[in-house]
Amino acid sequence: MTIYHHLNDETLMAYAAGSVSESMSFVIATHLSLCPNCRNKVIEMESLGGVALEDETQLAMQSGALDTVLGMLDDDFSKEKLTPANDQNKSDIPMPLAQYIPSELNEIKWKNMAPGIKTFPLTEVKAGSGSVRLLKISPGVTIPEHSHSGSELTLVLKGSFSDEIGRFKAGDIADLDDDTNHQPIADSSEDCICLVVTEGPLQFKALVPRLMQYFVGM
Ligand SMILES: [Zn+2]
Repeated sequence: MTIYHHLNDETLMAYAAGSVSESMSFVIATHLSLCPNCRNKVIEMESLGGVALEDETQLAMQSGALDTVLGMLDDDFSKEKLTPANDQNKSDIPMPLAQYIPSELNEIKWKNMAPGIKTFPLTEVKAGSGSVRLLKISPGVTIPEHSHSGSELTLVLKGSFSDEIGRFKAGDIADLDDDTNHQPIADSSEDCICLVVTEGPLQFKALVPRLMQYFVGM
């Protein structure tokens, strides 16, 4: 698998510092399990962060706040940060996503969302006002143009899509901030399946997708 689109350094930095939401961490960790490039960057950032943390710990000991610092190291996804490469995983679904869905993509119980678009929400991952879901987009189908009220990460698992930024294939991740407008189209002959996390509700430009959003809770 050759990966052309990676996480932004700002995102990796925030992840290494443990300051991204649980749902974002989940999708970032899934990309990292596929991508040695981003994994190495996180390891580097964490070792730099570790030095900074040691300094902070010395200060914290003086002020009696050591427990707080240790508590910060104990969050749910700290283990997943060190998610190993995906090699030992037999299915084609990367860890940690594999814990939440059937072992074969074609066993997923999809729900219809719009013509040519199916969805599978991952309700077990805490997502605040945003969402974590799989999307299955039929060949040639476009997701209506939208922007985001927060960040959006889209990790391609199968097939491909194109948008204003480029072409995204399996393993690629689109790391978008809140002022990007885009309109992805599934551009190969097979369904495009991706893992999408948003931090806030999507903001559609046109009325019909806005109505659709109201009815399907996109
Ligand atoms: Zn990467």
